[in-house]
Amino acid sequence: CGIVGYLGGRQAAPILLEGLQKLEYRGYDSAGIAVIRGNTIETLKKSGKLAQLRAQMNGYMPESTIGIGHTRWATHGRPNDLNAHPHIDCQGRFAVIHNGIIENYLTLREWLISQGHVFRSETDTEVLPHLIEEFYMGDMVETIQRVIRKVDGSYAMVALALDEPNRLVAARHDSPLVVGLGEGENFLASDIPALLKHTRQTYILEDGEIAVLTRNDVEVCDRSGQRVDKKVFHVKWEA
Ligand code: GLU
Repeated sequence: CGIVGYLGGRQAAPILLEGLQKLEYRGYDSAGIAVIRGNTIETLKKSGKLAQLRAQMNGYMPESTIGIGHTRWATHGRPNDLNAHPHIDCQGRFAVIHNGIIENYLTLREWLISQGHVFRSETDTEVLPHLIEEFYMGDMVETIQRVIRKVDGSYAMVALALDEPNRLVAARHDSPLVVGLGEGENFLASDIPALLKHTRQTYILEDGEIAVLTRNDVEVCDRSGQRVDKKVFHVKWEA
């Protein structure tokens, strides 16, 4: 339902939580964030409102300058803590948030289980981190390209990889996703209000596009890896 992503020079967790709060008007049943902290991906998630996630965190903010956050509107799997996003692979090396529906998730899930993957949730989304784990050979952009060739349905997704702590990779098909362009920092969101406190310079992603964010740069390519020359969309309206 709601997606946010951040990387830059500031602490990610408070920015992610605040961004999710700006998307609350869309409705949701669970919330969560994941950040890269030292040698691990740390995931904090909870069913219920953001206030419940904050209560569970009890003032704790994981130290990190890169992360992703999600508010879920359950389509596959009940609203509970395990089904909340982000979802991770078996070894906790990748974390993914996703809006939309992976239509062929049952087939993918069966195949992944036959390859030895163990699932923790009932969601369609969880096939994504496991597919990434299955395909990863050192480059997240190539991996996401392979993943989106396998999945049918709608998605806006953002992935974190422990081995690539300096970039966020995102993709969309039939579900909105916007890049927020900052100075020495960049953002992702499913909707512009989550960005407006930080920037009005955006890239509106189109179907089939993959965005690769680092602190100082954003590159967008199409399904086949061809670089897309994005025009900056300047947001003029007030939130
Ligand atoms: N289909 C996913 C789920 O049920 C994502 C739902 C959403 O867009 O929030 O977990």
